Order: sequence, then structure tokens, then C-alpha cells
Amino acid sequence: MDGYIVMKYTKEAVQSDGVVVPKYEVEIICSNCGYDVDESEFNSGTCSDCGETLNLRQNTKIYATSIPPAGGSTLV
Ligand SMILES: [Zn+2]
Repeated sequence: MDGYIVMKYTKEAVQSDGVVVPKYEVEIICSNCGYDVDESEFNSGTCSDCGETLNLRQNTKIYATSIPPAGGSTLV
């Protein structure tokens, strides 16, 4: 454990070996109310929105951006 916690990060869409991984965003939220937890709340162990003991949940948001296929399409 290095003690460093990422509350929110975004991964850009990538394409490798013909597989497209869409852009997505991961955030740590309160599992009780869905509040977007920040570092101070994480350290205090209490959600400042609903006042409950912090129970974390990871929320992944996938962006519907698409990467056009490389090389052009010859499909009919
Ligand atoms: Zn909460």
C-alpha cells in the first residue's frame, strides 16, 4: 500500500490490435447516496452528503465515443 488513492480518473479511448477500448471515467462514490467522494471525506471516513459511514463504491462511466475503423471499410 502506498497510501495514494485516486478518487477519479479518466482513461482516453485507445485502439490496439483492432480492439477499441472506449474512453471511460472511474470515480469513487458513496454507496449509500452516490455522492462523489473527495479526499477529505475519504480521510474522515464519513460522507459529508448523507452523514453515513463511508462505504465506497466504484462507478465507471463509459463514453460513447467511437474511433473510426482504420484502413477503410471494404465490407458490402
Ligand atoms: Zn453518502
